[in-house]
Amino acid sequence: MQDDPEPTTYGAVTPDEAFSLIGNDVRAEILRALSDERGGDGTPPTLSFSELRSRVDSEVDSSRFNYHLQQLVGRFVERREDGHSQLVDSVVDPDDGGYALRPEGTMLTRTIRAETATGEATLPPTALDLDCYFCDGTVEATYENALFKIQCADCEYLYEYDLTPPGILNGDAETAISNASEYNRAVRLAFARGVCPLCGNGVGTTFVAPSETGYPRPDRREACINRSCDHCGRIDILRVARRSSPTPAYSRSATSTASTRRRRRSGDSNSPSQTAT
Ligand SMILES: [Zn+2]
Ligand SMILES: [Zn+2]
Repeated sequence: MQDDPEPTTYGAVTPDEAFSLIGNDVRAEILRALSDERGGDGTPPTLSFSELRSRVDSEVDSSRFNYHLQQLVGRFVERREDGHSQLVDSVVDPDDGGYALRPEGTMLTRTIRAETATGEATLPPTALDLDCYFCDGTVEATYENALFKIQCADCEYLYEYDLTPPGILNGDAETAISNASEYNRAVRLAFARGVCPLCGNGVGTTFVAPSETGYPRPDRREACINRSCDHCGRIDILRVARRSSPTPAYSRSATSTASTRRRRRSGDSNSPSQTAT
């Protein structure tokens, strides 16, 4: 039995090696070029050495380019020859030869793409179809600095504070709010069920006082559940009821309807709740 083996990526690369491998302009461009070629469907396409080099905006000579490419082979990139893949031969065209992303490279480049926005990745304060539970003021959604926030514009009570990828902003404000709702519901569900949605490790559970969560908000809860991942560091703060029902409070249309307001006032199932990054 091994004692505390050093963490590795799936391809047996240590985290430090993985960071250093992508910490070079040429290697980063190679991964980006292969990712651009792949798009969103099918198996990873193969690019020949010359095709790949022509897609990389670099002035390094051929041998230097090859050096950087070989640094990635076996970790994030695979070299295919005569239709043979290191992974699954049956998905490779028999005439194919060249370079393609390995699954680890695909995961890496997708993660980077998911955190990348086109243009201004912000949503200005947008009124929701909710009155503040505490002061009947206007509750607003805002997206800025990768954080999706639901907050009362009047008493400033902060209902939601979620690290959310900027892809939710691809659409109008109502679509963005709906996408944020669905995305954060899925994240919260994984945490509530004890699995980190980012890295797949189990998460620990502790009760914390709201004043100890470190988030910039007035808080009226008595206790919340902190679920945190020791492996990647992602955390989520759940209100106690959300442990079993991880539904965002803002999962409604941004357009006003009196019926929603009446529901909130007559029932208490949507009492305020907060999550965190
Ligand atoms: Zn308020
Ligand atoms: Zn994790």
